[in-house]
Amino acid sequence: MNTPFQKKGASESEILLSHVEQLSKIGTWELDLLNNNLHWSAGVFKMLGYEPNEFKVSYEDGTNVLHPEDRERALKHAESAIVNGSEYNIQKRLIGKNNRVIHVVSKASIIYENNRPVKLIGVFQDISDFVATNQKLKVESEFNRKLIERLPSTFYMLNKKGKYLKWNRHLEINSGYSSEEIAQMTPAEFFDGEDAKRIEKHIQMAFDTGYTEVEAYLKTKSGKQRPYLYTAARMNYHGEECIFGIGYDLSEVKSVQADLQRVLDFSMDIICSIDKEGNFVKMSAASKEVLGYEPNEMIGKSFNEFINPLFLEESDQRLKKLKSGSRVSNFSNQYIHKNGSKVPLIWSAYWDEELQLIHCIAKDATEIVGYQEKLRKSNERYEMVTQATNDAIWDYDVVNNELYWAQGFQSLFGFDLDQLQPSFDFLVGNIHPEDREQVLDKIQKYMQPNSKYSIWEEEYRFKKANGRYAYVIDKAIFIRNKKGEVQRALGAMSDISHQKEYEKSLKLLNAELEQNVKQLAISNAELEQFAYVASHDLQEPLRMVTGFMSMLQEKYKHQLDDKANKYIHYATEGAQRMRKIILDLLDFSRLNDQSEELSKVDLNLIIEDIKLLHKKQIEEKKAKIKYKNLPTLLTYQSSIMRLFQNLISNALKYSKKEEKPIIQIKAEDIGSAWKFSVSDNGIGISEEFHDKIFVIFQRLHGRTQYSGTGIGLAVVKKIVENLGGKIWLESEENVGSTFYFTIRKAELID
Ligand code: ADP
Repeated sequence: MNTPFQKKGASESEILLSHVEQLSKIGTWELDLLNNNLHWSAGVFKMLGYEPNEFKVSYEDGTNVLHPEDRERALKHAESAIVNGSEYNIQKRLIGKNNRVIHVVSKASIIYENNRPVKLIGVFQDISDFVATNQKLKVESEFNRKLIERLPSTFYMLNKKGKYLKWNRHLEINSGYSSEEIAQMTPAEFFDGEDAKRIEKHIQMAFDTGYTEVEAYLKTKSGKQRPYLYTAARMNYHGEECIFGIGYDLSEVKSVQADLQRVLDFSMDIICSIDKEGNFVKMSAASKEVLGYEPNEMIGKSFNEFINPLFLEESDQRLKKLKSGSRVSNFSNQYIHKNGSKVPLIWSAYWDEELQLIHCIAKDATEIVGYQEKLRKSNERYEMVTQATNDAIWDYDVVNNELYWAQGFQSLFGFDLDQLQPSFDFLVGNIHPEDREQVLDKIQKYMQPNSKYSIWEEEYRFKKANGRYAYVIDKAIFIRNKKGEVQRALGAMSDISHQKEYEKSLKLLNAELEQNVKQLAISNAELEQFAYVASHDLQEPLRMVTGFMSMLQEKYKHQLDDKANKYIHYATEGAQRMRKIILDLLDFSRLNDQSEELSKVDLNLIIEDIKLLHKKQIEEKKAKIKYKNLPTLLTYQSSIMRLFQNLISNALKYSKKEEKPIIQIKAEDIGSAWKFSVSDNGIGISEEFHDKIFVIFQRLHGRTQYSGTGIGLAVVKKIVENLGGKIWLESEENVGSTFYFTIRKAELID
């Protein structure tokens, strides 16, 4: 029989088979069932990794080459094929050289001779590559399956009819719908109203254009809304046009965004984003506080609708610069508040290339600007004060040990401030050596951190540029930080050299004056003493003269002629006048006697007493003395009595003959003193004598005309002065006189 497995000589068909085996990766084998001989073709040897006919094949080789796990099954198939006379076609593994596993499809059939199975012939087809590829595919698809399943987002695949072909568990978990339910649902059923419409539109767009993205709120089975971002891409799946995509759960992002917005809205500063065209894209709540607009009123509008037009151009330029990549900080401009007021803003901003946005922070600078303005004004004021003052102002920065001298050091002390760089040491060096230690000690005391002192004042001698010393008063304030350390000291030096000189001369003058006063007091006292002694001692001889004169007249009246009597009369009269003068003088010299005590004196009663004393004269002259509600003073009764008595008696004495005297007494409270006036309608006094009449013994009339000694007004003046007052008069000849005088209120007398 001519079979393909003839062993001797390579027949044509054998060569052909060998070619076929090589091309199709197959090998054939033949088992002689009568003697159990096994034959492998070259293809089998090759498949197993051997050289063709590398060894003589036995039946054992045939079974050994079967993979142990497949062996039993393979032999069973062979047995049943033999027993039943059937064919078999199975997949199994062979073990080749070096234990290499080869996947094969094994087919075999029985050959009969005379109805007896004599041979089993079979074919191995090497399907290792196919199995490997298949395996790979399996792994790949498993990987994809797992990936989709474990994706932290929704995966879906839809066909044109809106039917879900695939989805992952994420959709089931997050929507709350079961797999069976989803299989029956359309996409729109997962969304509400507007969102559902938008989703349908986007699905259509994905089919039309190939790709789309959309944000929408997924409505869960329980009715909750969850924000999602969906992507959709078109693809062909098993010949059907579908879309597939991912749904990202934005809940967390949105909540972070909301948190962020809250944080931004908490900010007192405006935090915003501006697009390339200058429109506000985002705006924090501070816009309301700072500019009066709700964020929504500004979003979508250009910044130039809100800026003060004066600042538009500069701000526009800044915007351009920003877009070219430079950052901006501390840029200031002005916006207009909704209420029309101007709001200064300070900006920091940078350009976000990726988002094509400018992110900005704007600070309300109203306070800062106000503060700067205040600072500018106060600096200006400080400068002006420094210039205007006669003091030399200095400012010592303790921390940096820097001393500043203002213009005054030039004008007062002659230092050339363009040339000189003042320092603390230089200042100290210019303090007079005798004063230096005292000044430094005090500074030291003030510099202590725990010191409570802050206002410093010191008087010392300071060397001027010309080497001479000036007396200065240096007043300063020491400024401390929270720890109490002195940071700065500000002061002003005034040149008091002139005052010092003046003080010196004043002291000298005072000393001289004191000396003079002392001498004056001594000589006054001596004078008073003398006047007293003189007048007192003169009384005695005078009494003797008058006594002897009257005795002479009495005894020798009849013996003397008229002339002698006349002379005696003159002598007696002279002596009497002299007595009167002496008594007045005695009186005057006693005026400084301070033995009298203060008492309450009712002036109304005083005047009444005086009227009584002058009763006779008043009646004779038909005089009127007018007064009303005079005060009660705390004063020296007898002095007051004499004061008024002298003035009233003069007013009576120097009255006009042809007119009845009217005397008026008035009092006026002028605060610290009383002012009195005693006026009459008498003969008056020519103005040239107004001062003279107060001088002792000064009289304007002969004694024959009006009696008197010329002491009365001197006494009055002295009393007034002793009571802390002044006396003056207004008078016109032949009209009358008014004497004014003041008396200090007693409680105010030192
Ligand atoms: P005396 O009255 O003793 O002369 P006074 O010192 O009281 O001395 O007065 C001095 C002079 O002032 C008087 O001499 C008189 O000329 C003048 N005089 C004083 N009071 C009046 C008066 N009320 N009216 C006019 N002259 C007066």
